[in-house]
Amino acid sequence: MKLNQLTIAQAHDGLKAKKFSATELAKDCFAQIKKTDQELEAFITLTEEQAMARAEAIDKVGDFSKPLTGIPLAVKDIFCTNGVRTTVGSRILENYVPPFSASVIERLEQQGSVMLGKVNMDEFACGSSTETSFYAKTKNPWDTQRVPGGSSGGSAAAVSSNQSLYALGTDTGGSIRQPASLCGLVGLKPTYGRVSRYGVVAMASSLDQVGPMTKTVEDAALVLEAIAGVDPKDATTVNLPVREYAKEIKQDIKGLKIGVPKEYFIDGMDKEVEASVREAINKFKDLGAEIVDVSLPHSMSGLAVYYILMPSELSSNLAKFDGVRFGHSAKADNLLENYLQTRAEGFGPEIRRRIMLGTYSLSSGYYDAYYLKAQKVRTLVRRDFDQAFEQVDCIMTPTSPTVAFKFGEKVDDPLTMYLSDIFTVSVNIAGLPGISVPCGMVKPSNGETLMPVGLQLIGKAFDESTMMRLAYNYEQATDWHKLKPAIA
Ligand code: GLN
Repeated sequence: MKLNQLTIAQAHDGLKAKKFSATELAKDCFAQIKKTDQELEAFITLTEEQAMARAEAIDKVGDFSKPLTGIPLAVKDIFCTNGVRTTVGSRILENYVPPFSASVIERLEQQGSVMLGKVNMDEFACGSSTETSFYAKTKNPWDTQRVPGGSSGGSAAAVSSNQSLYALGTDTGGSIRQPASLCGLVGLKPTYGRVSRYGVVAMASSLDQVGPMTKTVEDAALVLEAIAGVDPKDATTVNLPVREYAKEIKQDIKGLKIGVPKEYFIDGMDKEVEASVREAINKFKDLGAEIVDVSLPHSMSGLAVYYILMPSELSSNLAKFDGVRFGHSAKADNLLENYLQTRAEGFGPEIRRRIMLGTYSLSSGYYDAYYLKAQKVRTLVRRDFDQAFEQVDCIMTPTSPTVAFKFGEKVDDPLTMYLSDIFTVSVNIAGLPGISVPCGMVKPSNGETLMPVGLQLIGKAFDESTMMRLAYNYEQATDWHKLKPAIA
């Protein structure tokens, strides 16, 4: 077995027992990247020299007591990395090299993590397929005619193909959970406020959250332990103790109550995906959990709310990219032309569409009808969850209505693309934690290759532990996470 095929927990055991070194582990990852990335195009920037130097330094010290020491990771290109280009998938930041690192990157560095490079994503995290990236079309390792999901598609492809042991992603409306689901991985979006976003380029600040994409639930727990916690540089982080997630998830789940919302099994969804998810939920009965019907009626307005609030916040957050301070700057005769040209050249069509939508819904005369109204419905969405969580410990739904689709299938039809987020956005709107775990394999109607299906678990705010405990117990009782894609 090559070392890049290991999980974090397995690699940690091996490093601690001195069965292999951090250098050998990183070498196997780079060998896999060299073998597969011409086809997959997961990476935008490789940092091989720095990574190998770091791994050697870590081996010299030889202290592998912390779980992430010497473990390679791929970083979504939305995290600022000191001295390493950070493009956010956009032409406008093509040459941006941040002079500082995001807080989570610093925390992982303190643990002795080894960053392999920066991975592809939809431009400014806007998309569900990674097709809006200015840089590359990342392929799904299970079937390279298909998208890896998005916006953290590079992260998903890198881990699923064993280029990296894990990756960091961000999730504003589903961007960790959906690509994890489409690539057969575990994707965790923690509670809003659980992990610092300092140094993470903002998409929609009231929704954005950082999280890991891993091969197993235990690995996700290990990464969460390392990155969670209050950060004075991000005022939205909450000062609650970080739990021993990796330990707590190993308790059994007897007597836990699982809510299944009827509104999350919609007409338009793939019937086989639905069947896999229902079967998975039934499996929890065998494991001793109790299944309860719940109702989240306002979740069906979630997508409408999201596509008002997100562009509004995005349009405001992207105002700073004007060609003066960061990145791409167009040649022009005067300042106004410089602004206009820079933004016209620097942003792709999906970003321009969202800036226009957001500016419109925030403008005077429309604000009350759109932005304010969406904020009110946001409260209703959250209240539904509050009520449901009076009865249950966790809620389960599909992660995505379909398996991975083909390139070009949805990219020219924004509404169809936006529907990919139907089951994930309400979790961000309510600020709750969510996780996707592999729960089946389905043959798409337009293809021959079986593609992975994801089950979404939604937890109470700051109770990632119970949610991951359910996910872990399910994973241990099934074999879905052991299946490997064609390129791995
Ligand atoms: N796919 C969603 C969108 O296009 C979610 C993006 C995200 O979570 N960053 O906005």
